[in-house]
Amino acid sequence: MSAPQTTRYDGRPRLLASWQTTGRTTLLAEHAQVNGPLPVHVVPSLIQLVGAAGLRGRGGAWFPTGRKLATVAENGRAAGGTHVIVNGAESEPAAGKDKLLLRAVPHLVLDGAELAALAVGATQVTVCVHRGAGLADGLRRLVAERAAAGWGSGLPMTVVEPPRWYVSSESTALANFVGGGPGKPRAVSTYVSGVDGKPTLVSNTETMAHLALIARYGPDWFRAAGTGDAPGTALYSVSGAVRASGVYELPVGASGWDVLAAAGGQAAPLQAVLLGGYGGTWVRPDVLAMPFTPEALKQADASPGAGVVVALPQGACGLVETVRVASWLASQNARQCGPCFNGLPAIADDLARLTWARDHNALERLRFRLGIVNKRGACGHPDGVVKLAATALRVFADDVRAHLEGRGCPGWHRPSMLPLPTPPSPNEGWR
Ligand code: SF4
Repeated sequence: MSAPQTTRYDGRPRLLASWQTTGRTTLLAEHAQVNGPLPVHVVPSLIQLVGAAGLRGRGGAWFPTGRKLATVAENGRAAGGTHVIVNGAESEPAAGKDKLLLRAVPHLVLDGAELAALAVGATQVTVCVHRGAGLADGLRRLVAERAAAGWGSGLPMTVVEPPRWYVSSESTALANFVGGGPGKPRAVSTYVSGVDGKPTLVSNTETMAHLALIARYGPDWFRAAGTGDAPGTALYSVSGAVRASGVYELPVGASGWDVLAAAGGQAAPLQAVLLGGYGGTWVRPDVLAMPFTPEALKQADASPGAGVVVALPQGACGLVETVRVASWLASQNARQCGPCFNGLPAIADDLARLTWARDHNALERLRFRLGIVNKRGACGHPDGVVKLAATALRVFADDVRAHLEGRGCPGWHRPSMLPLPTPPSPNEGWR
């Protein structure tokens, strides 16, 4: 197939083009017509191609995908095989891109997974989807359809639903679950020991979809969009005070204002924006003028993360929103590490006490706790809560003073801007 654009990016969506045209799932025949067959001939050079394209993982960490593929492939040679997991479990409540990609362009995601699996010497592919999202059965039918049509690599591919806990979509938790264990994180990297002890590539749906296009159209085409450090397009889940909440595709490096403009623009004057996800960063609106790349946002102590952007309007209370989210995140810990198990509820309690109880000691206690809980878990869950709370104290410093002084807060009684899903039932457990 020839690349749709080769020298300049014209702003059209790459991943969501067919969805925007038809508003429905792209069928296998349509996918074949637009993108051509699965390009298995590029597999021997795929890792180099992905490295040259500069693709970085879109699950939140923005780690170079080529390096990840190379490491898993190399470890797999010594270990006698690898496993590939597509991470579509998406437990970020304000995110929607995984669910959209798996509904809109599933074959692009599955193509990417199959090509990645062949490149790293995997013997099995597992697609993890959000439990209760209604995706699993449809995907199983698509996997069967691909096999019946002779499409794909012939590698066994299964679809599973890990539990809905926030931390169950973390890469080591997925490997644990796929291997038959609980959907809880582990301290050992999946690159080294994942499913059944095999080195395991865990990559987000969006990363897999980009990979499928790079395999077809090449690194130069991919680099025509985005920046030198972070090429390509990215998906943003935009919500809050915007006119049209949804998932939007923009070139990496588009500014925050561009991202909001894609969602119809701000629906009210803004006081702050939550970037990356619930374990992300509160920033002031002036950060929206920056290019949304990991490098640029680092100056604001932030990251595009998993592409979550929640605009908080004037009149809402950032502190109240943070208390609610921190309490919810505390309820989602996997009860394995003391600093996380004990520390996160204590952080949420301190936040609540300074927000509602005018407890001046809570602020000092909270600052102390944020210092001792950070980086003390087997996974990054506590670090995310620390970042959320610490940036709330910074961005909403005036509100902290107002709450401690008992001045009225107009945002107290507003409904939550940040969705808080019902936690899994105790019966559901971690399997
Ligand atoms: S840090 Fe928290 S969420 Fe992560 S493994 Fe430990 S207890 Fe579980």
